[in-house]
Amino acid sequence: MRQRIAVAGAGPAGLTFARVLHRHGHPVTVLERDPAPDARPLGGTLDLHVRMGQRALDKAGLLPEFEALARPEGEAMRILDVHGSVLRDWQPRPGDPAHPEIDRGQLRDLLLGPLDVQWGRGVTEVVPGGADGALVRFADGRQETFDLVVGADGSWSRVRPALSPATPYYTGVTYVETSLDDIDHRHPDLARLVGDGSMAAYGANRALVAQRNSGGHVKVYAQFRAPLDWHENPPPHLGPATAVDLDDAEAVRSAMLALFDGWAEPLLDLLRHGTAFFHRPLHVLPAPHTWPHVPGVTLLGDAAHLMPPLGVGANLAMLEGAELAEAVAAAAPGALDEAVRAFEEQMQARAGKWAEMTMAGLDRLVSPDPADALALFDELQPS
Ligand SMILES: Cc1cc2nc3c(=O)[nH]c(=O)nc-3n(C[C@H](O)[C@H](O)[C@H](O)COP(=O)(O)OP(=O)(O)OC[C@H]3O[C@@H](n4cnc5c(N)ncnc54)[C@H](O)[C@@H]3O)c2cc1C
Repeated sequence: MRQRIAVAGAGPAGLTFARVLHRHGHPVTVLERDPAPDARPLGGTLDLHVRMGQRALDKAGLLPEFEALARPEGEAMRILDVHGSVLRDWQPRPGDPAHPEIDRGQLRDLLLGPLDVQWGRGVTEVVPGGADGALVRFADGRQETFDLVVGADGSWSRVRPALSPATPYYTGVTYVETSLDDIDHRHPDLARLVGDGSMAAYGANRALVAQRNSGGHVKVYAQFRAPLDWHENPPPHLGPATAVDLDDAEAVRSAMLALFDGWAEPLLDLLRHGTAFFHRPLHVLPAPHTWPHVPGVTLLGDAAHLMPPLGVGANLAMLEGAELAEAVAAAAPGALDEAVRAFEEQMQARAGKWAEMTMAGLDRLVSPDPADALALFDELQPS
């Protein structure tokens, strides 16, 4: 008899898991809290690495479709100082498939394909160890049991407490995200500033990063070190003189312009022309995040190892999703639990290393000395 498998979360981890399992002919129930695929903006572009995200897509049989959508030119990276002088202007080599970019919405649609996601089914709790399997409780009061429940429900996972008491903690760095639409026509000067891929300017304990998505859409991230409640009690060195209402776009814009006061005008224009502003304090899980194996439940992606956003999280999430799906599909009858346990050991060791590296990277990117960020770029980027 087929094992009853459920995955909570239709993000990169959960959808890759479900899609690879589907490819192996194994039924899987996908439970997603969002009421519909287009219920909220999904966030900025993702670069998918050959050995991680692209490998996962290969296991799902989706590499050709990905290549048709991906933007290799999006790998371009320009670094400026706060006066607007270009310090580095890196372009990918033609035909180099190392880290092409794709919009999150395009990736989600690619992975969704034939999957039958149950939208609007938020999981509130998982109780392992029942005679009929792991019990899943839903926000609408219903409940259901499965042989394996995979928590791919992101940073604030509701599945994680079944396995581990760990909760995310604040890194000390906050992103405020805004965006510009149709940049090539509406703001051609800014389009040239950003280039084909990303642009970053680093100052002391703050940075401005702009990333091109498809269709002339650009996401801008104001990144800075601050207490979590900076908007309620702004410290004197931070810029805004009074409390900032995060629901008031003009108040947030003014606060960001004060925070980056003195930077080159074109850089400030990225904030002046931004539309809505989203507050994204960066949280992480303690690393390495491990837990004693519990039959019937496991975790993938950010639910398992939330780390700073330095271009790895979605890649790892997808690779893990594909690997777990293959392990489940290959497990002999009665051997599902051993397969999951082996997967967890490998995942936890690998993710722990990445979590430490990305945390160290964040310290250098948003650092008292902007030279730290430039040095990190020079270490990582092939010349
Ligand atoms: C600004 C920024 C830039 C980034 N850039 C990159 C990048 O370039 N490359 C990269 O690899 N990574 C990047 N990341 C990290 C990446 O976004 C995450 O690591 C990745 O999305 C994790 O995927 P996931 O599927 O584990 O979780 P998520 O993407 O968070 O998906 C979780 C899903 O679960 C659903 N869900 C939540 N709670 C429940 C519930 N209770 N019940 C059911 N469903 C639920 C959510 O609605 C969501 O659909 C970036 C992150 C940020 C913040």
